[in-house]
Amino acid sequence: MSVFDKCRNFTKHNELKQVDTYPYFSPLASEQNTEVVLNGKRMLMLGSNSYLGLTTHPKVISAAISATKRFGSSCTGSRFLNGTLELHQELEQRLASFLHKEKALVFTTGFQTNLGTIATIVGKNDVVITDKTDHASIIDGARLSFGRMHRYNHNNIEDLERVLENCRENSPENSGGNKNGKGNCSGKLIVVDGVFSMDGDIADLPGIVNAAEKHGAGIMVDDAHGIGVLGPKGRGTAAHFELADKIDLIMGTFSKSFASIGGFIAGDEAVIDYIRHYSRSMIFSASLPPAQTAAALASLDIIENEPERREALWKNTNLLKNGFHDLGFDTGLSETPIIPVMVGDDLLCFKTWRELRNEGIFVNPIISPAVAKGQAMIRVSVMATHNEKQLQTALEIFDKVGKRMGII
Ligand code: PMP
Repeated sequence: MSVFDKCRNFTKHNELKQVDTYPYFSPLASEQNTEVVLNGKRMLMLGSNSYLGLTTHPKVISAAISATKRFGSSCTGSRFLNGTLELHQELEQRLASFLHKEKALVFTTGFQTNLGTIATIVGKNDVVITDKTDHASIIDGARLSFGRMHRYNHNNIEDLERVLENCRENSPENSGGNKNGKGNCSGKLIVVDGVFSMDGDIADLPGIVNAAEKHGAGIMVDDAHGIGVLGPKGRGTAAHFELADKIDLIMGTFSKSFASIGGFIAGDEAVIDYIRHYSRSMIFSASLPPAQTAAALASLDIIENEPERREALWKNTNLLKNGFHDLGFDTGLSETPIIPVMVGDDLLCFKTWRELRNEGIFVNPIISPAVAKGQAMIRVSVMATHNEKQLQTALEIFDKVGKRMGII
């Protein structure tokens, strides 16, 4: 028995390739725009997370080029040691004031931000509580921590209350532990996506804040898909509910609306300073390159100063979502530019993806375990820069393919 046996027995990808239904690692030969080139063919892009369409914005591109010329191609070291630039600090200050938080800290990816933040904050006797459809990086951050993990049913505040109640009953204070003893005081952290990355619905933050206050729990919101999209000036889900001051930690990534890569965490100065000195995914990994830092800064300027982009995004979202509904598609729980077209069966989802690809549409098929079994979906995402003609074309093709596949 070898550790590599499972790899040699893994044949699923080749089986799917043989029937031309393998949808992953498709190599694009173009920029990430409303149209892309795949295998020499122009495709309409409905699967990008570039919600505001900034990856091709001249100001973002020229900021990345200038930063590379000035600071070089890499920082070749961690933020902790030789890899901090003034540019990182400028971005952190700008993010903190944008989100109305005392301090922010930039990581090299959003994934590392969640790993490093959750594993640092949730200690041995603490509890981390997650929504069942939270992003994988939140789950992995919770697994890396030394605390206990609990999950509640998706966006279900009653279930969250039940979990919080159970934590209280099972906490060391209630089981005879020495309250003053080292590590015996169990803290609780609720970690939730602001906008859920697959279903495109919005976390019930008012309900979560209420439950957290009752049970003395902290809250961290992963707003990868909310910042730039929701709230005044695009400040995200917490601002959308006017609850930013009740959220202890706001996390974001630069790989979506910010048209770059990287992540950040924002909160109280003492908390961010602690994370800065203990977060292994930041301390033991090289920092965000100059080009990506400058691109994120330029995008932040645009997010703050060009509300018309957000308006266009929502106009496009409504046009496409209403169009899907008129055609008879089920878009699940979607309330945002993430629009799942529900298909159900995994194989049907791959076949639908293939038909859409053959008709010139790029979308992402999502199957279990990324979503629950039987809830496979075609994940459609809208950009501010799509034009009406592109969206009408998309609807015509979805209509044709949906009927052919028996979905509508
Ligand atoms: N959180 C959520 C909700 C995400 O969707 C993603 C990216 N898919 C991440 C975190 C990780 O961000 P990054 O791509 O910057 O690593």
